[in-house]
Amino acid sequence: MSYYPDGSHRWESVRHSKLSTIGWMDAPHPIPQGTVDPEDFARLEQLIVHGWTPEEMEGAHACTFCFGDPDVEPPERIVAGQYRRLGGAQVCVPGKSRIYIFPDAILHYIDTHGYQPPKNFLIAMRKVDPKDPAYRKRCDELWRLVAPNYY
Ligand SMILES: [Zn+2]
Repeated sequence: MSYYPDGSHRWESVRHSKLSTIGWMDAPHPIPQGTVDPEDFARLEQLIVHGWTPEEMEGAHACTFCFGDPDVEPPERIVAGQYRRLGGAQVCVPGKSRIYIFPDAILHYIDTHGYQPPKNFLIAMRKVDPKDPAYRKRCDELWRLVAPNYY
């Protein structure tokens, strides 16, 4: 995993003011602390299972707070009723005028490390239905705007 502070406009090779990173935690950078509503947690699980991603990553990276070596294969856990290995995917959430990108490991940072994502992200996340084609279309439009050379 790579570290990006919440709200960073930079992710991998992408730089754009309408891109916001959320939940890209990496030791030793401190994790913003707070509680997360169980309903919000369940929404994040649905997004991770059904959401839109610009890229499938190869392999999964372990949490660097739990494991000294990020190349350790992270343990499987249950996400929305299915076994998954977190640390190998990212998901987009379109906001009014920006696109958020978060790693699937956000679930681990929340329930193991007390991470609290920023409010503006949670508000945007509550408004999307990852199974709605309009959500996918909006992600695709915004991603083309922020990362025209990424495809
Ligand atoms: Zn951890």
